Amino acid sequence: MESDRFSLDGKVTIVTGGRQGIGKVVAHALASQGSDVVIIDMADATEVAAEIAEQHKVRAIALVCDVTDPEQVARTIEEAASRLGTLDLLFNNAGICLHKPALECTPTDFTRVVDVNLNGIFFVAQAFARYLVANGKQGNIVNTASMSATIVNIPQGQASYNSSKAGVAHLTKSLAVEWAPLGIRVNSISPGYINTEMTGNVREDWRQIWTDMIPFKRMGAPEELAGAVIYLLSDASTYTSGADLIIDGCFTVV
Ligand code: NDP
Repeated sequence: MESDRFSLDGKVTIVTGGRQGIGKVVAHALASQGSDVVIIDMADATEVAAEIAEQHKVRAIALVCDVTDPEQVARTIEEAASRLGTLDLLFNNAGICLHKPALECTPTDFTRVVDVNLNGIFFVAQAFARYLVANGKQGNIVNTASMSATIVNIPQGQASYNSSKAGVAHLTKSLAVEWAPLGIRVNSISPGYINTEMTGNVREDWRQIWTDMIPFKRMGAPEELAGAVIYLLSDASTYTSGADLIIDGCFTVV
C-alpha cells in the first residue's frame, strides 16, 4: 500500500477534549500527518493550538465548548467551519471518569458521566455529520470508547463510566450503519489504562493492582493510541466502519 494513504494533508480535524491527555497528544499526531486542527474543550486550549501550529506548520485553533450542550456544540461546529473554511474529520474524545461505588452514586453523579461521555459524543457526532451532509461532503469520525465498554474494572466502582462507554461502542456501530450510505465512516478506539491527567491522581494501591493485571505489566502512553486514530481517520481504512479497536496491553485478552 502506498504510504500516503495515511496522510491527512489538506484535512481539517476536530479534536474534542484536546486541551490535555489523549486528545492533546493525538491532536499533535494528526497535525504531524498534515491535518489542520480545531481543539474543542471545556477550558481554553489556545496555548495547545499555538504549540501545534508552531511545531507542525499547520493551522490550529481552540474553541471553548461544553459537549453536553447541543446548541453550543452546533454553534461551535459552525464557527470552526467558518474559521478554517471546511471540516473533514472528527476525533470525538472528551470524557470524564468517576470512581464511586454504585450504591453511593447520586442521580447527579450518574447522569453527569453519561451526559459527557455518551450524550456529548452523540451531540458532537450529530452536529459534525449535519455539517457534512449540508455541505455535500463525506468524512470520518473516531469516538473514544474504553476497554471499560467490554470489561468491568476493579477494584474501583465506576458503573456510570463503564455503562457510558458501552453506550459509546454501540452508538459507534449504530451511526456507522446509519451513515454508511452518506459516506461517513464511524469507528471507535477503546484504550486500556493510559497515563494522563485522568489517571494521574489515582490511589497508588489501585494503580499497582491495575499494573499487575495488565499482561504488558505497565500502563499505556497516549502516544500509543495515535497511530490507530490516524489509521481510522485516513484513507488507509476506507473499508472499515463500525469497528472498535481495543488498545490495552492485552488487558481484555486474558
Ligand atoms: P483527561 O481528563 O486528561 O482529558 C479529557 C479532556 O476532556 C479534558 O481536557 C477535559 O476538559 C475535556 N472535557 C471534559 N468534559 C468536557 C465537556 N463536557 N466538554 C468539553 N470538553 C470536556 O482524560 P484522558 O485524556 O485520559 O481521556 C480522554 C478520553 O479517553 C476520555 O473519553 C476517556 O474516558 C477516555 N479513556 C481514557 C483512559 C485513560 O486511562 N486515561 C482509558 C480509556 C478511555 P477539562 O479538564 O477542562 O474539564
